[in-house]
Amino acid sequence: MSYVLGLKCRECGREYPKEVLFVCEYCFGSLEVDYDYAAIKKQLTKDTLSGRPKTMWRYKELLPIDNEPSVGINSGFTPLIRANNLAKALGVKELYIKDDSVNHPTLSFKDRVVSVAVSKAREFNFDTVACASTGNLANSVSAQAASCGLKAYIFIPADLEMGKVVASLIYNPNLIGIEGNYDEVNRLCSEIASRYRWAFVNINIRPYYAEGSKSMGYEIAEQLNWKLPKHIVAPSAGGSLITKIYKSFKELEKLGFVDKVDTKVYCAQGKGCSPIVTAVKEKSDIIKPVKPKTIAKSLAIGNPADGYYAVDTVRRSGGWAEESSDEEIVEAIKLLARTEGIFTETAGGVTLGAAKKLIEQKIIPSDEPIVLCITGNGLKTQEAVTKALPKLVKIKPSLASFEEHIKNAAGQRIADEKVIEYYI
Ligand SMILES: *Cc1c(COP(=O)(O)O)cnc(C)c1O
Repeated sequence: MSYVLGLKCRECGREYPKEVLFVCEYCFGSLEVDYDYAAIKKQLTKDTLSGRPKTMWRYKELLPIDNEPSVGINSGFTPLIRANNLAKALGVKELYIKDDSVNHPTLSFKDRVVSVAVSKAREFNFDTVACASTGNLANSVSAQAASCGLKAYIFIPADLEMGKVVASLIYNPNLIGIEGNYDEVNRLCSEIASRYRWAFVNINIRPYYAEGSKSMGYEIAEQLNWKLPKHIVAPSAGGSLITKIYKSFKELEKLGFVDKVDTKVYCAQGKGCSPIVTAVKEKSDIIKPVKPKTIAKSLAIGNPADGYYAVDTVRRSGGWAEESSDEEIVEAIKLLARTEGIFTETAGGVTLGAAKKLIEQKIIPSDEPIVLCITGNGLKTQEAVTKALPKLVKIKPSLASFEEHIKNAAGQRIADEKVIEYYI
């Protein structure tokens, strides 16, 4: 049932068989999965889709596994929410949130890529999966390896948020904190990957893994009744997600599901780690690596593997890029929670913070449909916001104590201007 023809170099186009390969031996370009779109077009129609389960696997012909998925079978098809309250706060007409903060099983967009990667690793008969991670990938690989009895080696920067560490450790992987930043973790993992026969999901089986991100784009299109949004804002770490969302739209165009793609793609990064945003703004093709310094740790990749392709995607689509400072990230997390009841992690704050600036600068017009990709859950990065929240009110268990409290609380509210802003 596979529609995968093989792998193909993104640079020179040289073809390879569908094996555990990730770089072109001739030009060192990265490899990408190549599909038989003519055959897919015959098989995959709006009709066939209508009877399928509401998971990312409803688009299985466009995902690179040969058999039925064996793990992560409930991932994807997260809600696309019409965000009217947030739209009002931002002064725009039609705004949607693609909410991967409730993805299955580990509450981030990474469940998409890991569901594909671990299913593929099993097809390749690996008994161990591994990854270099900024946190969410660690959570998803740990959980999904546990669910199918594979061994897991997970490498993370040692200073990640407690929520991300606990949400990996609970599945009992071999979790190793490296005293260094993600780029150092990744470099070490490349060396380890060349010595051990492990499936490093984002290194030696990266071509397959990365395709999982496309499912976010297919879902957005289907949930908008096959009418693509004019603008889509997504966060970037390694730069893969944004590239694959655009690829998914182009594939849907090729298969006749949507009209000609006319969507502008915008990249969002944290201000202390924005090599892709910088390249877009400087109109340069060269990604200058940086040393990350941002509270958005899940996006803190200073030397993004797909940075060049992310810049190219933004440019080809006619989009732009923007960064969010730590303060803007925290304000945006609070704004999303208070307008839409969605608690996102720092990456979501980056996305909304950047979108807000793009709208204020009129780079994104206020009267066209906009989708924001919210990619992770706020319960995992609680330390980012705790200082910016009011203290817990504590009272004695008596009515008198309660009434004393509400008498004072009215006054407190008015004093807290930042909170009041969102209520008017
Ligand atoms: C990994 C991650 C991203 C971005 O992924 P890339 O494909 O590496 O650009 C975005 N949001 C969250 C929460 C992530 O964990």
